[in-house]
Amino acid sequence: MILERLREFAQRKSDELPPPGYAPMKISWIIELDKDGKLLGAIPTKGEGKQKFIERMAPNPNLTGKRAVNIKAGLLADTAEYAIGKSSAAKEARPERLALMHADFLEKVDACAAVLNDQDIQTISTFVKRSDLADEPLLQELDGGDWVTFRVEGRLVIDKPTVQAYWSQSQSEAKRTGDCMICGSIKVPLVDLQPVALKSVPGGQSAGVQLISANTDVFESYGLKSALIAPMCKPCAELSHNAINYMISNERQNFRLRDVIFLFWTRENIEFDFRSFFNDPNEDSVKELFKSVYGGQQMATNLDANNFYMLALSGSGGRAVVRDWIETSLPSVKKNLYQYFAGQQISGGREPYQKLMALAGATVRDLDDLAPWVSLSLVEYAIKGTPLPPALLSIAVRRCAIGKTNPGTHEREHVNAQQAALVKLCLISENKRSNKAYAEDWMIKLDTTNEDPGYLYGRLFNVLEQIQEAATGGNSVERTFGTAIMSPVSTLPRLVARSTVHTRKLMRDKRGAAINYTKLLDEIQGKLGPDLAFKKQLNAEEQGLFVLGYWHQHAARFEKRGESEFNEQNN
Ligand SMILES: [Zn+2]
Repeated sequence: MILERLREFAQRKSDELPPPGYAPMKISWIIELDKDGKLLGAIPTKGEGKQKFIERMAPNPNLTGKRAVNIKAGLLADTAEYAIGKSSAAKEARPERLALMHADFLEKVDACAAVLNDQDIQTISTFVKRSDLADEPLLQELDGGDWVTFRVEGRLVIDKPTVQAYWSQSQSEAKRTGDCMICGSIKVPLVDLQPVALKSVPGGQSAGVQLISANTDVFESYGLKSALIAPMCKPCAELSHNAINYMISNERQNFRLRDVIFLFWTRENIEFDFRSFFNDPNEDSVKELFKSVYGGQQMATNLDANNFYMLALSGSGGRAVVRDWIETSLPSVKKNLYQYFAGQQISGGREPYQKLMALAGATVRDLDDLAPWVSLSLVEYAIKGTPLPPALLSIAVRRCAIGKTNPGTHEREHVNAQQAALVKLCLISENKRSNKAYAEDWMIKLDTTNEDPGYLYGRLFNVLEQIQEAATGGNSVERTFGTAIMSPVSTLPRLVARSTVHTRKLMRDKRGAAINYTKLLDEIQGKLGPDLAFKKQLNAEEQGLFVLGYWHQHAARFEKRGESEFNEQNN
């Protein structure tokens, strides 16, 4: 399935992808000849920055398996070792080997010249047969490892459509023929090895990686292992892999999160920037999303009947591993994406919506510790609505319990907006599982009608912190956050008792504040019941609600402050 979808994508993008048998090669030099084969010079292509090459589509010598130590020349473009028999300073080849390499290059040029009857190729053939090329002064700067190609009278010969067609056909002599499982062609040459390496897969080696079978269940479940083992024709193998490389190098079609790269595409071409939803979500784009999901009319258009695909890859040495594969309809993606954003809204944050990196990062102290399953499960939830794993709530709550020391004030911070948003998303997801789905506007800000003990404990804890701070300027209450969330009875009664000292002090110094705090305490304790029987332990959901109660109470304080500042400015 994956390879078929990739092949379709490649066919749609055919004008932007390499011609069959071609691949982007790092060409450093173009050797210029006149029509009589006279050498005019070697022009450095000079890439950007430190690169001394430009990637240019050229005949791919690895088409019938990676050449590695085998001698296998490309057509009209290759390293200077192959093309002019010049040795490399970094890795000097034995003279016999060098001679064989150059001879193979020559043989390819001559074979092509014989079939195409092309004067330019004849000219190149004559030139590369010169025996003095290794010492040619005009070619002194070339190293044997540099890729070169040829231009005759200003014509880049590898760009000729006749040369492209010739190369593709001449490389089709596969050892076996059969029916291609991807395109259904009957009795065609089949590939034994994937001809195109995947470039820039995170975690993979820089020379490129192969999409090959790994013995993991996840891999098996997408049917890719069998797809790669099953017979496949060369065009299908090339197209599917070129499609991946295209998406990896095209910013609008992917986004990376640590060691995973997510590739997105749709069956029909549309303008829909998935990347920005995860990298940089903003209010306007989420509003647009809402309109397109719930606006009515647009659901009926053809474009929305479109299909959506997502492929997540990680590299490991020379292999690319499929981490996830999603195939679904675009309208359902939009709906799930909207619910993902609606669910994470929370008061007190600087941004209305969180970057995926920030949400995933809310589970760890250091992003280096981020496990791939965290971001993968968030993406699955955002795109497919797959419930978040219960472990995500646990690690988010644990992160809050441990807290983080603010380097400026040395005070400990236990919950931030990203963590609160993540916890809220986990609770919503958990409730979807049990079919008592929350509405989109559930728990965005302080809910004084919520009587869940976890929520009330969280609120209470925050108020006790505020009282101590107001009375003494310090906050030692926060040290017990971790124990309070795990076992309220062992902590909260003691804190409540101690707070009477603080309120008494406040009554003397800041009477207004003291009255407000007493009211707040009464309100929360009233809901907890007259005997204040604190629970011994909280379950995962109650712990999540503790985090939300704590954060909402904290945010409400600043909201009020913000409002009064606003009122003062406007009076
Ligand atoms: Zn095929």
